[in-house]
Amino acid sequence: MHTELTRRDVLLGAGAFALKPWSFWKQTDASKPVGWAILGLGYYATAQIMPAFAGSDRSKIVALISGHPEKLSRFGDQYNIPTGSRYSYETMDEIRHNPDIDVVYVITPPATHPEFVVRAAKAGKHVTSEKPMAPTVADCETMIRACRKAGRLLQVGYRCHYEAHNIRAIQAMRKKELGKLISIRSDHGFNIGTGQWRTQRALAGGGSMMDIGIYSLNALRYLMGEEPTSVQAKITTPANDPRFVDVEDTVEFNLDFPSFKGALGAGGYSWRQGKNQYEVVGEKGTLRGDPATPYNGHRLLINGQEVSVASNNQFNAQVEHMSSCIRDHKRVLTPGEEGLRDIRIIQAIYESGRTGKRVSLA
Ligand code: NDP
Repeated sequence: MHTELTRRDVLLGAGAFALKPWSFWKQTDASKPVGWAILGLGYYATAQIMPAFAGSDRSKIVALISGHPEKLSRFGDQYNIPTGSRYSYETMDEIRHNPDIDVVYVITPPATHPEFVVRAAKAGKHVTSEKPMAPTVADCETMIRACRKAGRLLQVGYRCHYEAHNIRAIQAMRKKELGKLISIRSDHGFNIGTGQWRTQRALAGGGSMMDIGIYSLNALRYLMGEEPTSVQAKITTPANDPRFVDVEDTVEFNLDFPSFKGALGAGGYSWRQGKNQYEVVGEKGTLRGDPATPYNGHRLLINGQEVSVASNNQFNAQVEHMSSCIRDHKRVLTPGEEGLRDIRIIQAIYESGRTGKRVSLA
């Protein structure tokens, strides 16, 4: 969880996160960028993450891993990846013999993350895994254990922690600029289509909560800077909608935090309506992110006035932070433990939705 966090901390890898006993890997050659293998060449990898390496001095794409030879060929050529550094899922364990690869970025459906993360760690590589980290708490623990055992870093791709407007919002919260809290709420949603892995429980691990609701949950946690102690949830899924045969649609919940009991720390998520915001109301003022966690075009308002924040490329900042941590032997800002916390709370949200009872997170 964040302490006092500045943009410089994020970009350089805060000293507070310096590793001590478990930094086993060899010093990387500081004159060379850290080498990244991208695993899973779908939308997010190819449209957002891979282009964000442009202009990086600390990070370079040096390998690709994909289930489709045609993609390996197309993106391999586009990114000048040597043919010997293009792997299938069957051959990916060979990356252990490729010294150019320092870290593997797993960008596949959530249920596949555990296997790929464990294989990458066993091959001696650091790993970044996309969100949600994995469908279950046990999966997340397996991933954390595998990376620890290999003595390698595990980062979860929570890009918002590296994004300038969100960092400014966190600072306002840590400095208590709004005074005593009255309410905090975050809503995320979009209108989902049919025929996607996102609506298949076996691949997604759940529905809107896992995919888009996690932004609200994670934002509530990073804005509060503390862990919730209990949760009450209500889940509403329309009947006869082919998108929601296997998974939930709308999830409403409220969280109690140690410093904020009996008030509203709430999140709402839906796959039927576009929303992307958080709002904090305090006795001295208000803070609103709207949109709060998009790919670009963020707006942060404090007391109704738009705050001037120099925009950054959050995808690049997330990758560069990981590269800095590898190079400088530092802890990552969003490690596996951060992903695990969200999954533990999401499971409690599901339990509360099922039983109608408040669930303790103690
Ligand atoms: P896509 O469906 O566009 O791509 C997923 C890719 O995963 C596929 O193209 C495929 O790559 C690979 N894959 C491996 N195994 C499977 C499988 N069993 N079924 C389907 N695909 C498989 O999804 P996204 O790119 O949108 O999402 C990927 C991950 O990134 C998810 O965890 C998602 O939550 C996360 N994400 C994060 C975002 C963020 O803002 N942080 C935004 C969007 C997504 P190949 O063909 O190369 O084998």
